[in-house]
Amino acid sequence: MIKYTGKGVYGAVAIGNVSVFKRQGAEVKHDHVEDIEAEKARVEKAKELAIEQLQAIYEKALKEVGEDHAQIFEVHMMMLEDEDYNDSIINLIDTRKVNAEYAVKVTADNFAEMFASMDDSYMQARAADVKDISNRLIACLGGGGSSDASGDGKYVVCADDLAPSETVSLDKEKVLAFVTSHGSSNSHTAILARNMNIPAIIGVGDEFLENIKDGDFVIVDGFTGEVYVDPDPETLEVMTKKQTEDIEKKKLLQDLKGKENVTLDGTRIKIFANIGSVKNVGAVLQNDAGGIGLFRSEFLYLENDDYPTEEEQFKAYRKVLEDMGGRKVIIRTLDIGADKQVDYFNLDKEENPAMGIRAIRICLTRPEIFRTQLRALYRASAYGSLGIMFPMITSVSELEKINTICESVRAELKAEGVVIPDNVEHGIMIETPAAAVISDLLAPMCDFFSVGTNDLTQYTLACDRQNPKIEPFVDTHHEAILRLIKMAAENAHKHNCWIGICGELGADTTLTETFLRMGIDELSVSPTFVLKVRDQVRKIDLSK
Ligand code: PEP
Ligand code: MG
Repeated sequence: MIKYTGKGVYGAVAIGNVSVFKRQGAEVKHDHVEDIEAEKARVEKAKELAIEQLQAIYEKALKEVGEDHAQIFEVHMMMLEDEDYNDSIINLIDTRKVNAEYAVKVTADNFAEMFASMDDSYMQARAADVKDISNRLIACLGGGGSSDASGDGKYVVCADDLAPSETVSLDKEKVLAFVTSHGSSNSHTAILARNMNIPAIIGVGDEFLENIKDGDFVIVDGFTGEVYVDPDPETLEVMTKKQTEDIEKKKLLQDLKGKENVTLDGTRIKIFANIGSVKNVGAVLQNDAGGIGLFRSEFLYLENDDYPTEEEQFKAYRKVLEDMGGRKVIIRTLDIGADKQVDYFNLDKEENPAMGIRAIRICLTRPEIFRTQLRALYRASAYGSLGIMFPMITSVSELEKINTICESVRAELKAEGVVIPDNVEHGIMIETPAAAVISDLLAPMCDFFSVGTNDLTQYTLACDRQNPKIEPFVDTHHEAILRLIKMAAENAHKHNCWIGICGELGADTTLTETFLRMGIDELSVSPTFVLKVRDQVRKIDLSK
């Protein structure tokens, strides 16, 4: 038995035989051509064929994984039409008299390198997309397309990396799991695997692919990121049990849809979901969350090349509110800075960005950006039940300034004839120790608190959340953090303010009872954890 370890991107266990993914168009010859015009015409024809194929993949993805995830193939079609990309291919044929395949390959390598060298992890992940469309184009220059790895039966598909189009082209019925030597958890492939509910492990390293061959018997543990090749009988037994238990657990969780979040003694709690994009609302509804406890609105800014306009933001917020059909939606005003950098904000480089000009500090120093977002939020508020939440609060004076700006924006809109319902709630994140300590002063000024345990942990324990080396020092259950949450809960309730938790700790079911005993009113977790937390709540008896 040999064990390889990577990163699990979807927690489930698969046991079966390997099919090594075979890709066409990987070998590209470098030829000299005389008839440049004929070569350019070949590119045009291949492009048409590639677009036809992508359209078919888009339609397949639409049925299998939904519109949000199918959109990447529309992006691929657009990338194939990109002027710079096409100019580069044509230019290489014109100036270096090379064959079309080679021109596409060189262009793909250059573009992929450019994307990979960008700081932004989203842009880095686009390197895989440009390689994907180029491989397709090269295959189409040969008249065909890329092959998939599935034969008869079900397989564990192993590859160096899988492009999104390759992932979705595989027959889902024949794939037990994905294992790739490379890849990032931010890639669309990882996202698609999660959405297809297929166990997947990325980044197991080159050695794995060098040693693995078709037909090898493997166990894939998507929870731990471990792959066992030719497992011994004991491992097989343990993992078979783990697989059976997981399947049973997931089945049982489905039965919890439509059930209440109520403890054995009758205490109720709200379980909401966190989202980063309008596109995630489907997952919120599928997992039966009672509302959205955190919409990280900064992703609207991160996805754009320029400040999203008031109209663009209004449309996005309205859509989320409408899609949630009257259920509560808490939208957090932008939390840019620290790890979430956006070039067009032109923020100064800082020694210590987590403690620098970020989140509300940007909004208060650049009120025009803040006012645009607030206008969009208030305009959208008539379409559902909105809560507006402010991040990184440390003082009463910040909240006073925020309230003044909010009042002025509301007055401006009312003068324009915009109707703003009275039920819009205003709340703050408790994610700095300062906010928790002065929560008695902040609570009378808010409708709700939401504890951001991710930042609260980093600031309380002085442990940079971006630094993996510091992880051994991070005790997420540290008494200091729990005391701060309890203090905030007590102060909130004294002042008629409700309190939720939207940081990752909210999904830690070993703490659910502790949170319930503190009187936490709402837990907002990633959509896939909603039913798991509901399950835990329903097992707790607070009367004991
Ligand atoms: C938090 O800090 O816990 C939080 C929810 O916000 P973010 O992770 O976006 O900083
Ligand atoms: Mg935070």
